[in-house]
Amino acid sequence: MPACLVCHDPLEPFLSFGKMPLADAFLDEPELAHEFFFTLAPGLCAACGMVQLCERVPDARMFHDTYAYYSSTSAGMRRHFAAFADQVRRRALGSADPFVVEIGCNDGILLDGFAAAGVRHLGVDPAGNVLAEAARKGLTVQQGFFTERSAMDIAAAHGRADAIVAANVVCHVADIHSVFAGVRALLKPAGLFIFEDPYVGAILEQNALDQIYDEHVFYFSVTSVNRVAAIHGLEVVDVAPQPVHGGELRYYLGVRGAHAPSRAVDEWIERERASGVVSPAAYRDFAVRTGALRQRLIDTVDRILSKRHRIAGYGATAKSSTIINYCGFGPAEIEYIADVTPGKQGKLTPGAHVPVRAPDFFRAHYPDYALLFAWNHEKEILEKEAGFQAAGGTWITYVPDVKVRSRPPGAAA
Ligand SMILES: [Zn+2]
Repeated sequence: MPACLVCHDPLEPFLSFGKMPLADAFLDEPELAHEFFFTLAPGLCAACGMVQLCERVPDARMFHDTYAYYSSTSAGMRRHFAAFADQVRRRALGSADPFVVEIGCNDGILLDGFAAAGVRHLGVDPAGNVLAEAARKGLTVQQGFFTERSAMDIAAAHGRADAIVAANVVCHVADIHSVFAGVRALLKPAGLFIFEDPYVGAILEQNALDQIYDEHVFYFSVTSVNRVAAIHGLEVVDVAPQPVHGGELRYYLGVRGAHAPSRAVDEWIERERASGVVSPAAYRDFAVRTGALRQRLIDTVDRILSKRHRIAGYGATAKSSTIINYCGFGPAEIEYIADVTPGKQGKLTPGAHVPVRAPDFFRAHYPDYALLFAWNHEKEILEKEAGFQAAGGTWITYVPDVKVRSRPPGAAA
């Protein structure tokens, strides 16, 4: 039986998706024969409350120099990160020459906000291609994983940090103890470690089974984060929900005793106890609900195809990999998936091998139905692609349940 990465107690899966590919491993034709698969199965540690993958993929397979995700592709995300940087500056960067370190800075979408304000900063990321984009913008970056060792090196070279920040990164790192020990070593005594990640409570509430994929090793709650923090002399001092990636929490951590925790921390922990976010029953229910959701989506697609209507996808997101492969869809069901990321266009999606096309291709080859895989960007995409519905196209969403959107009045049938 696998062991909990936090407390080493035995871990039991509550759901198994079977063999899954890496969600960001888009392929060219010759690579199909060597595609990598692993068993995707999340489990809850009953001892410490941490939800995590039971089988992990080695980091070097996921975070490398051809990493497919660029943070800056969405206008909504750029606004979100500008506000995030503002918040960090207000709460943690009051000293004379503040220094901020970002773990997993990607193309620099969050660091931009510090650089623009003249704040001393350093971004760390193992993926050379996205990091090169950050460097091209003039940001100060260094390639590598953030570990206890590299954190001590950064402290020696640049001094300790007023703030350490991360977005959609901490939940990716299996060696979470090394990250938290590194934070403890690098943070000033009154500094703040501020990070945000998908919230496990939102995943349960929205049946968002597509948040579960190889890169998301952990599915955090305030309860579980506070327990890891305590092991390293840190504590959660504030929590703020964020309406991105389908529902995230932003955690503010300080050295234990350095900041008075806000009332929100106790309120969230109490809410998690009451709603069962740290109890096995909630995850058994989730497995039943998401199994039914999968069947409804398969039936919906079958019904559309039986009428000889065409289906395409929109947003070749990492999230889409889980739902597509779990449903067993391929190019016979989904003709192509439109995506704005140039590095994905012309490639095949992991596992299902559906071709990825530019949004222009979508506009020139409207299907009858489009599965909206980037459901967390629904508003932005439906506005940008208003022409699809105007031409008689129908969107399908599947979070929290399968929904075939009715056509706007006056649209051609
Ligand atoms: Zn545990």
